[in-house]
Amino acid sequence: MSENFDLIVIGGGSGGLAHAQRAAEYGAKAAVIESAPLGGTCVNVGCVPKKIMWYAAGHMHHAKLAEDYGFDITLAGHDWAALKQRRDAYVKRLNGIYETNLDKRGVTLIRGYGQFVNGHTVRVGEQEYAADRLVIATGGRPIVPGIHGAELGITSDGFFELKDCPKRVALIGSGYIAVEFAGMFSALGSDTTILVRKDGVLRNFDSLMREELQQSLARENIQLETGVIPHEIKKSDDGLCLHAEDGRKFGRYDCIVWAVGRAPNTGDLNAEGALLELDGYGFIPVDDYQQTNVENIFALGDVTGKDALTPVAIAAGRRLADRLYGGMTDRRLEYRSIPSVVFSHPPIGTVGLTEEEARKEYGNDVKIYTSRFTPMMYALGGDKVPSAMKLVTVGSDEKVVGCHVIGDGADELMQGFAVAVRMGATKKDFDDTVAIHPTSAEELVTMR
Ligand SMILES: Cc1cc2nc3c(=O)[nH]c(=O)nc-3n(C[C@H](O)[C@H](O)[C@H](O)COP(=O)(O)OP(=O)(O)OC[C@H]3O[C@@H](n4cnc5c(N)ncnc54)[C@H](O)[C@@H]3O)c2cc1C
Repeated sequence: MSENFDLIVIGGGSGGLAHAQRAAEYGAKAAVIESAPLGGTCVNVGCVPKKIMWYAAGHMHHAKLAEDYGFDITLAGHDWAALKQRRDAYVKRLNGIYETNLDKRGVTLIRGYGQFVNGHTVRVGEQEYAADRLVIATGGRPIVPGIHGAELGITSDGFFELKDCPKRVALIGSGYIAVEFAGMFSALGSDTTILVRKDGVLRNFDSLMREELQQSLARENIQLETGVIPHEIKKSDDGLCLHAEDGRKFGRYDCIVWAVGRAPNTGDLNAEGALLELDGYGFIPVDDYQQTNVENIFALGDVTGKDALTPVAIAAGRRLADRLYGGMTDRRLEYRSIPSVVFSHPPIGTVGLTEEEARKEYGNDVKIYTSRFTPMMYALGGDKVPSAMKLVTVGSDEKVVGCHVIGDGADELMQGFAVAVRMGATKKDFDDTVAIHPTSAEELVTMR
């Protein structure tokens, strides 16, 4: 006999939890199936523990700067193991809070791995559960390429398992995870190298952000090796060596991290049991309303292959519940002007079109404003970390369609500017806004 619900969500990560809780608030009898600690990637092996590591790296930067401000600081070292212990304890607390939150809203938590039996029924172990509607929010996992010795490397999941700081590290990949981890390793004492297939990091970002970041990597002594197509990893007494297809050898390293993308968790779902269609990579295609090809089955978050960010999964989950259970008939997430931050050193905040995307879409109608400066924090000497900003505008009214910032504070300042860009602000609106002085953000409203 199966137990019946209005709604079953497979996956208790950012999107799944958000959806189930909002649906339950509207009165739906909801269940969440989760095979791992609650909270998903973000809480356990993503945003949260990563941000803690970023703060740790930031403290190292500030400690170096402190001398310029009159402090007499001797850094005796960094205790990675102690940091990990506190970080893990914090994550565990969050796991507990998520469980309490489900409890408070009357959402049933089913522990185990969910697989479709048919379009209305899911099996977990020996038990079957049925529901009118099913939502797939199973997220993704790091990709490890199928080359010889690949298993000698770790992934982003393994990064959070490291018990101490490796002396020599290679990050393979050009995306934000490679860049962020490189900054953390380097600040906390590793000799760090990034190996990329093409010519640089963050290939989909605005050119100004990429140029400035690559200069920052160089300033931090993070080596960047380009045109590297991994062929094999070999281990010897002195560490790991990466052999490239063109015959070059890189290393030796104590740790190699694969950061070459993520694949959706759909392989073991028995999607065919529910007649559910997947795309060639295993992602679940959905329409503008998160609906799959099966009428009563929806998918959201990373498993759909759209912008893989926590707030995107949460927003899609809540809005779907608003629509299905809250009577808001046209409620949905619009996948445009989604702001994001790369927690590099310094961070990058970005929203809207890059200059390159805007020129492709609007041709000569594009006008660009840029600014490069050294923030006041570095006025007293030391290693100066420059900032750079770009506004991408289109049309005679110079509507701001893109805003890109690299520099200290970019992470916090971008949220407010994302509101302005989403509302359709023009360059004149930016100019008419009185600056806040002295800040870095004021540069965005004083550009000429
Ligand atoms: C290193 C790293 C750093 C990141 N940093 C950021 C950041 O700074 N900001 C940001 O916005 N995003 C960040 N992300 C991305 C963010 O973590 C994801 O976009 C977000 O977690 C996606 O949420 P989701 O609900 O789609 O999936 P997930 O959070 O991955 O949740 C999916 C859940 O489903 C479970 N599951 C899978 N299959 C089954 C099954 N068959 N049965 C039961 N349970 C199942 C999994 O165990 C998991 O708990 C980061 C990701 C990584 C890897």
